[in-house]
Amino acid sequence: MSEFPPGAAFIGGEYVPMSEAKISVLDWGLLRSDATYDVVHVWKDRFFRLDRHVDRFLASIDKLRMTLPFNRARLEEILNECVVRSGLEDAYVEMILTRGHSPTFSRDPRDARNNFIAFAIPFGWIASEEQRKAGMRIWISEVPRIPAASVDPTVKNYHWLDLVAGMFDAYDNGFETVVLSDGSGNVTEGPGFNLFSIKGGKALTPSSGVLEGITRRTAMELLEELSVPVEAGELSEKALLASDEVFVTSTAGGIMPVGEISGKRFGAAVPGPVTEKVAALYWNKHTDPAWTTPVARTLAAE
Ligand code: PLP
Repeated sequence: MSEFPPGAAFIGGEYVPMSEAKISVLDWGLLRSDATYDVVHVWKDRFFRLDRHVDRFLASIDKLRMTLPFNRARLEEILNECVVRSGLEDAYVEMILTRGHSPTFSRDPRDARNNFIAFAIPFGWIASEEQRKAGMRIWISEVPRIPAASVDPTVKNYHWLDLVAGMFDAYDNGFETVVLSDGSGNVTEGPGFNLFSIKGGKALTPSSGVLEGITRRTAMELLEELSVPVEAGELSEKALLASDEVFVTSTAGGIMPVGEISGKRFGAAVPGPVTEKVAALYWNKHTDPAWTTPVARTLAAE
């Protein structure tokens, strides 16, 4: 097995195979986690909700006071070209802007030249095929998510040490993945996913201390389409354990069922009826021209 996945990257202004996509050890993206990123997927040759992902990426860049060295149209062109060069029809497409580093080696982030990187690799799932059938087994960790006042979770970021500590906590307790608390008895999110509780025919997803996931927003729209009332609000650990069904949402896999949380198993039927309906509708939308953008296989002349 190769050390690198198949795919194509754009780095330093050039397209290269994944094995050649390398950054400087001086980049503050590496040294300080000073970076933002976004991930959109391509399914059967169509980007899913590209506009939403690009909106969020551009908003994150503004919030971090960084500058993309080109406009939105060029960004979309580069993402498209990474997919075309990768030869993939189902792809995981990541765009990153790191702080870069200061040409004078000052420590002042205002002096840095921001560094853009993008790549397309094969589509990946946060849940295995088995987990997508039987439901993921999730541990609620006592490790609290980094407070939103310290690191704004709506800026998609690589501050993952709390999530990684939580994953080890979950593994140590015999579980497959984790959701972190907010330190006050409520749950937030997990490594790469948001969370939904269904109780008495209504849906609830945590409103604070979380990334505003594009799949989370999509699930809210789909639940409305299915006439399931949905709200973003406080979700206590107790309320989560008392749910009828629970599902997680992520660009890396869509809407995926949860089978067990910290020892509490969910019903005989996993996925539950609401999860099953919303997940089916989610995949149906992958051919809807209103929600998707076809990959342009013919590239503009250089
Ligand atoms: N929460 C965190 C911390 C994430 O990193 C991600 C995605 O990587 C999500 C939630 C899900 O967001 P999206 O639905 O936009 O993929």
